[in-house]
Amino acid sequence: MEAHQGDCSTAINVVMLGPPGAGKGTQAERLSRTRKVPKISTGDILREAVQEETGVGRAAKETMEAGNLVGDDIMIAIVQDRLGRADARCGFVLDGFPRTVVQATALDRMMSDRGPLVVLNMVVPEDVLVRRLATRRICRKCGANAAPDWKAKCGKCGGALITRVDDGIDIVRERLKVYQRQTKPLVEYYSGRPTFRQIDGNLPPDVVTGAIDAAQGASASSDGSI
Ligand code: ADP
Repeated sequence: MEAHQGDCSTAINVVMLGPPGAGKGTQAERLSRTRKVPKISTGDILREAVQEETGVGRAAKETMEAGNLVGDDIMIAIVQDRLGRADARCGFVLDGFPRTVVQATALDRMMSDRGPLVVLNMVVPEDVLVRRLATRRICRKCGANAAPDWKAKCGKCGGALITRVDDGIDIVRERLKVYQRQTKPLVEYYSGRPTFRQIDGNLPPDVVTGAIDAAQGASASSDGSI
């Protein structure tokens, strides 16, 4: 991860909201590059912890494999620690957090001395999500989502392409249920804010990126803070 410690001219605090498979990770990575702020994916942080068999990893493994949510206290501590690092001083793109109202309330507290949150809600029909997740392949080594032109190996690091443990069809259905129950209420939590934007995620990735560029630019200037 690049460190972004210059002036904060491209500063922005983004939350990517949306169900699993909506394309949050892909778009978060692009936005992180253009705005020069780190992408913080709680799913990636947890998968790394599982792989390294840390205390958090051991506590989270079974929950993740069942498609359920890891406890709020653990997640809030992880994000609080991550946002305190130097590279997040000028902002961040959060992917996978918050996922509950308790987490969103905690994030608002963490933001008290920072700029406003730009919330991008990615909307994709459920049948499309199921199809995307069931056919998704990721790199075993670096976790990148497989691009259509990659064959048997990761185009970034050469690692083997595998199906994510929690992308099996039954677990996908469970994750979508968990989303409806615990994460969708966040749409209501954020939707009254001037910096909330709906994004149609059921379009080709580059078109979605264009819509996000327009939306986050407009939302930043509507707030007058950047
Ligand atoms: P998805 O494709 O479902 O968006 P992620 O990679 O973001 O997947 O997360 C994978 C799993 O990690 C989740 O199903 C959940 O078990 C756990 N997880 C990630 N972020 C959070 C969070 N903010 N709160 C609770 N659990 C989380």
